[in-house]
Amino acid sequence: MSRRSLQDAPLLDSAPLAHGPIADVAPLAPIDRRYAYLIPAALSDAAQPGVRVRVPFGRGGRPAEGIIVARSDGDWTASLQPLLEVLDPAPLLSPRLLELAGWIARYYACPLGVALSAVAPRASHREAGYRMVRYVLLDRPPADGIRRTAIQQRVLDCLRSAPPAPDDPAAPPRIDAASLRGVADCSTATLRAMTAKGWIRFVERREPSRPPTAAPLPREADWTLNADQQAAAGRIIAAMQADGFRALLLFGVTGSGKTEVYVHAIRAAIARGRQAILLVPEIALTTQTLDRLSRRFDRVAVLHSGVGEAQRTRDWAAIAAGRIDLVIGTRSALFAPCPRLGLIVVDEEQEGSYKNIAAPRYHTRDVAIKRAQIEGTPVLLGSATPALETWSNAAPGGRFELLRLPNRVSGLRTPRLSVVDLREEHRERRGVHLLSRAMESGLRGALARGEQSLLLLNRRGYANYLFCARCRTPVVCPHCGVYVVLHRSTGLAHCHYCRARLILPTRCAMAECGGTLVKFGMGTERVEEELKAMLPQARIARMDSDVMARAADYADLLGRFAVGGIDVLVGTQMIAKGLDFPRVTFVGVVNADTALAIDDFRSAERTFQLTLQVAGRAGRSEAGGEAVVQTFHAGISAIQFALRQDYEGFAAEELTARRRADLPPFARLVRIVLADPRLTRARDGADGMARAMREALFKAGLRGLIGDPRPAALPRLRDAYRFEALLTFATAADLLAAMDHLRAENLLRARCRSVIVDVDPVALQ
Ligand SMILES: [Zn+2]
Ligand SMILES: [Zn+2]
Repeated sequence: MSRRSLQDAPLLDSAPLAHGPIADVAPLAPIDRRYAYLIPAALSDAAQPGVRVRVPFGRGGRPAEGIIVARSDGDWTASLQPLLEVLDPAPLLSPRLLELAGWIARYYACPLGVALSAVAPRASHREAGYRMVRYVLLDRPPADGIRRTAIQQRVLDCLRSAPPAPDDPAAPPRIDAASLRGVADCSTATLRAMTAKGWIRFVERREPSRPPTAAPLPREADWTLNADQQAAAGRIIAAMQADGFRALLLFGVTGSGKTEVYVHAIRAAIARGRQAILLVPEIALTTQTLDRLSRRFDRVAVLHSGVGEAQRTRDWAAIAAGRIDLVIGTRSALFAPCPRLGLIVVDEEQEGSYKNIAAPRYHTRDVAIKRAQIEGTPVLLGSATPALETWSNAAPGGRFELLRLPNRVSGLRTPRLSVVDLREEHRERRGVHLLSRAMESGLRGALARGEQSLLLLNRRGYANYLFCARCRTPVVCPHCGVYVVLHRSTGLAHCHYCRARLILPTRCAMAECGGTLVKFGMGTERVEEELKAMLPQARIARMDSDVMARAADYADLLGRFAVGGIDVLVGTQMIAKGLDFPRVTFVGVVNADTALAIDDFRSAERTFQLTLQVAGRAGRSEAGGEAVVQTFHAGISAIQFALRQDYEGFAAEELTARRRADLPPFARLVRIVLADPRLTRARDGADGMARAMREALFKAGLRGLIGDPRPAALPRLRDAYRFEALLTFATAADLLAAMDHLRAENLLRARCRSVIVDVDPVALQ
């Protein structure tokens, strides 16, 4: 946080004109400065810290938005300009949230205005009160002779019989998509297929929003806790009664009933007149968790990117007014303006999706700990496979208190987990099969018993490796230089990094070669295809970001799965996380090696976590369950420990390796990535920056290791060349001291298109 600007004002007219209140304003823009403004008498009451203001900015004095971060009395000089306008009737951010934003800006080395934009609600009063509604209307319906399914016919009938729109009776009748799905009992995929045929089309309209009138869900009583759960809940409640900061890790195997412990702890917080925030990593998880918790608590708000602006604004106001007891949501829900916060829970704390992928690149778990510290409340982290950073903090004598749930709740049996060595499978079997014999028999067994299966592959599309059979030249994205992935749904080759879509050439692109292209590798589309051929009688659905565009799509599909309308659900990792369906008795991992393919010191940890989590999805009922994991690396310890379901053994071995290699949690990393369309600019920029940083740290006597710049793991992305430098620090204090200094010396910049500073990176791509 730079305070220099206060002294930076030109000193031409330094003689004070008067004495009065001065506002310290951070512009809501990526500018790493703060500016001082006079507070005119008329605005004196309103201009409090935490309100948005309009101020004259830059040489031309163009009005810009900022937030007052502090207020003081000082000498008014002619160089100080007055505030133009105060935009909020009351502060948007409490002093504690302002302090949190300040910490984020400092620790994650980003401008305060960027941190403030993340912490403040995104909705502005201009947008509030409106929502986008998606309507379906008839376009060119099929003639009578054209074949259609029964569902498609229902959709057509519904649209034909719809009443004319009240605002435009001449327009073709329309029904909003959500109602149509309900009335015609169809999925979004059905509607999308019908749009592709040109029978119907979607239109979006901006309409005034109505307050939700959803009927309250039937209430459910709390469960009785077992002895382990009671002991854990007791410790959390004791921490709350102590009225101070405390970090606790709830380490519970899957199926051990962590959620029930959260419920009891949250209830205790509410009973003390406090509010609670429960963070979940994925939007797909939120629907299920929310549904479960809404049956248990009266005043719940859900905040995630799928919630409309108007709803968000209403929720934000209700939370700030203290009318909400429990806030559930993904990353940004952490910044809910609870005036009486009493507990923060971070479920599945090990999830990489808690890391924000744009500036400020904060880690939600770590900021949750900081917020709890500032608020003086406990923070509870929950996981079956804690991140190694968290686990080492929970070691004896560490900063976190460790609470264990070692057993599955009574009635739930531990799933049987087996590993298929794909090398052996390929030796013993002819032809290319994505699904091994063990996988096939597990799927058939579940189907025959009328039970459900989940099949996981962490790769979208159909084939991810396309190359020339003659000269072996692969097909790469012209903008990124990475392999493109063939998608059957579009018939195009997609770049999963820049989202470019290419028409696949029929022949090799190399001059004078002209060999035929071979499609190799696998993705969810191909698994779905093989599965349909293997089990033609099964009802199969796919869930990945290609078919799931909106939160409602997840809810639809999960709803159908929950009522037994789907036998096998194929998907990317989004289906591995926390979904809890008692009828699922078989879970398969098509390829456990996708994480290992990435050159990252966390690959083993990710492979272990994924394998164990997936196993946990099987057997959420008394029927018991089975999980089959396919891999080409059956011998590595991540897989072996997962097979024995031994988290602590894995953690001990992996931590020893990390300590030896000086990697997190035994060191802190900062990753700096420079990108530019000109290779020399990116490379020279990185070299020059690393040299200057080394010199500066040396001169200031600060500790830190600046690695030699090298091409990034993705050396070219979106037509820009990328170079990275890794900074290593022994402790967080070393990191802060060094980064403060480098920032003050203006050394986190270079003359190239972009410089990304990522503190505590979770992925080194
Ligand atoms: Zn070729
Ligand atoms: Zn690309």
